[in-house]
Amino acid sequence: MPKNTATDGLRVKPHAKVRLRDWDTAAGPKELRHLRDDELKQEAQEILARNLQRLTVAQDLLWASDQYAMLVVLQGMDAAGKDGLIKHVMSGINPQGCEVFSFKRPTDEELQHDFLWRYTRHLPARGRIGIFNRSYYEDVLVVRVHPEWLDKQHLKPSRSLWHGRYDDINNLEHHLTVNRTIVRKFFLHISRKEQKRRLLARLDDPQKHWKFSESDLAERAYWKDYVEAYEETLSATSTKDAPWYIIPADHKWIARALVSEILASAICELKLEFPKPTQAQLTAIRKAKRILES
Ligand code: AMP
Ligand code: MG
Repeated sequence: MPKNTATDGLRVKPHAKVRLRDWDTAAGPKELRHLRDDELKQEAQEILARNLQRLTVAQDLLWASDQYAMLVVLQGMDAAGKDGLIKHVMSGINPQGCEVFSFKRPTDEELQHDFLWRYTRHLPARGRIGIFNRSYYEDVLVVRVHPEWLDKQHLKPSRSLWHGRYDDINNLEHHLTVNRTIVRKFFLHISRKEQKRRLLARLDDPQKHWKFSESDLAERAYWKDYVEAYEETLSATSTKDAPWYIIPADHKWIARALVSEILASAICELKLEFPKPTQAQLTAIRKAKRILES
């Protein structure tokens, strides 16, 4: 994978042992660290605007060349900014070539199947970008924190169950890559303090009340357990082909700029080209032009 200096440091190297406290939640790349808050926001907005243009062109190519699909996995603690990121980063994208799936608690029907079933049904087709707002990773994260939820699947938590799931996920992502689905995964990394600020903002602002869920507060109490589950997951499932990026997400604009940068670059690296017409098509085009013009 070619290096991109600003974002390469955010990629979890295969087999690296992730300790989240070593990863910045605020400014991220060194290049941006010296900036004041207002400068940072402006710089990030400019990067985002530039990347949105790149993404628009890249998506057109992805669609027209019809060779690759792209799967974007978004994970993070509650209030990490997943929804806002999707709204902003995808604003320049043609809706025809993009689908977003938000995964909530599984239904009874879904629980009757293997854990990957409900996700694989929504994988993007060639030419398309699929965004998983939460994903099969919940089955080694929230379910790891609440192992009693396995009861409904008649499974018992154990080290080998979780490691088996990491293997299943790595195998799935390998299978996707070989079949030309580009996989990019983002952990939106916020501090506990920033989560508190955002949850309080949801309570204080009537326009944000709808975002508040009592479960956010309940889950916040498990912060440490989530950190452990994330650390183990990020360490076990970041591969060369399907890398995790740990995105500093305390500043929403920075997170959005970084993710848009990584996505645009991932598509550009494919060096796609618009399909070239065959000789027969060129003849037909010339003929059609003559008819229309006469
Ligand atoms: P939100 O993303 O705020 O709409 O919340 C969705 C909720 O669904 C979160 O609390 C997730 O932890 C939960 N969820 C998503 N996937 C799963 C899963 N596979 N098993 C259990 N809970 C899940
Ligand atoms: Mg929520």
